[in-house]
Amino acid sequence: MILLNNGFMIDGTGAGSRLADVLVDGTEIRDVGSIAPNADWQVIDCAGLTIAPGFIDIHSHSDKEVLQHLPNKLLQGVTTEVVGNCGFSLFPTHPNPTGRKLTGEIFDGEPPEGMPTAVEYFTAMERKGSLVNVAALTGHSALRVFAMEVREQATPDELREMERALDACLETGSAGLSTGLNCLPGLFGNTAEVTRLCRRVNHHGRIYTTHMRDYKFRVLEAIDEALEIGRRAEVPVQISHMQVVGSKNWAKLEPALEKIEQARQDGVDVAMDAYPYLAGSCAMTQLLPGWAQEGGTAGLLARLEDSVLRERIAKETDDLMANTWDDIVICGVKSNGNKALLGKTVAAIAAQRGHKPAETATNILREEDGQVFMISFNNSEDNLRKVLTHELTSVITDGFVMEGVSHPRTFGTYPKFLGEYVRDKQWLPWGEAIRKTSGLAAQRFHFDKRGTIVKGNFADLVVFDSNRIGTLSDYASPAQDPQGILHVLVNGQFAVRDGQLTGIKAGQPLRG
Ligand SMILES: [Zn+2]
Repeated sequence: MILLNNGFMIDGTGAGSRLADVLVDGTEIRDVGSIAPNADWQVIDCAGLTIAPGFIDIHSHSDKEVLQHLPNKLLQGVTTEVVGNCGFSLFPTHPNPTGRKLTGEIFDGEPPEGMPTAVEYFTAMERKGSLVNVAALTGHSALRVFAMEVREQATPDELREMERALDACLETGSAGLSTGLNCLPGLFGNTAEVTRLCRRVNHHGRIYTTHMRDYKFRVLEAIDEALEIGRRAEVPVQISHMQVVGSKNWAKLEPALEKIEQARQDGVDVAMDAYPYLAGSCAMTQLLPGWAQEGGTAGLLARLEDSVLRERIAKETDDLMANTWDDIVICGVKSNGNKALLGKTVAAIAAQRGHKPAETATNILREEDGQVFMISFNNSEDNLRKVLTHELTSVITDGFVMEGVSHPRTFGTYPKFLGEYVRDKQWLPWGEAIRKTSGLAAQRFHFDKRGTIVKGNFADLVVFDSNRIGTLSDYASPAQDPQGILHVLVNGQFAVRDGQLTGIKAGQPLRG
């Protein structure tokens, strides 16, 4: 048995810290309180340190990373991740022997062997082992690519095929359905289509998470749509990475939050999540009008070859901007010729090339076969504070590791949240902060016996120094290990000990 001795324990329910020992027996928490050490136990001195439930990242894009055992989440204190967000998941997929990248988003090609249901994903995880526990959503965009070509309206047969495939994924343990309604190809799914799919989610008693149709000028309409789907299909709704994008829209945050609060009062089981950064990161195609992307990446590239269409796309993209081209930083390109663009703003590149910014953006997309990632400065600190401190908000990374420069959230989310916003800026008390990193998240996804430090729960635990917790990871050099995180236990085993990876893969698939 392992005794975490004499630490400040924060249990994840929202309660503040109290002096306590935590006794771990096998995979479980055997006892919490004042426990006299026994000579046979492994006793870890936690004097001056904080003991908290392992962090639960309910909005992750580590679908591939967890199979590759990348440690960037674990080192932050994460013990459970929910992958398959924003409409993107590795299942359901057909075999894809050429590794073709179908939608220009997030994953670098689909798994060559194909994963028709969640079984294949969880089996791969069990075969390879996992550093952390993993639950997996079924992506709406993945369902669309599985059932049809990249175009607007699904036929009745195609819709039925999506329902059937979703049923198969949910039956095999997927945690629910995610959408990415301004990402390709999910953006072509209308409210009726998503509602129909959500009825399957209801049937299996799971959750609907949504990267909404708009976070900019039409963010309020997008919230209405998410809530309407929740009402009609009677499913819990999780609004992903809540924010309003661009200074032109910042005043819309208050009414957006009011809509969510009102819906909750009216009986919709809605909550939200947020990452503790002012900038987001995604494929640059998200700046483009939807029609330009019909037919997927191939359709887009064909249009960009046509000078008239290219000009129209650039003009409409410019009109759709809620922030400025100074706020858009290129962080991922494929070609060696354009590696020099990494870390530069589109405005700066445009000045260098002597072109207009929107024209420059569409040119870069063309040069890179549509595969460009950006970091986009979207949020105000005031609004970030309102969302992060809101009682319905869980803290998430939204992170993924990419070639080029990953967003720093991939490496530093939880240490930044706790070090900067909780300790230094005192935006919220420690007990409430830890509820947002664990207890609330577990509740949303019904992770049984996880997310709180209670006798009988799984021993997913993190031990950190609240005076030192923090990160040096920033937009220029994101890939840096966190500071002040000493021990991480996953299902009762040390995955991180004295700040070092042990190599133990004690993570479990969490099947819904
Ligand atoms: Zn998203």
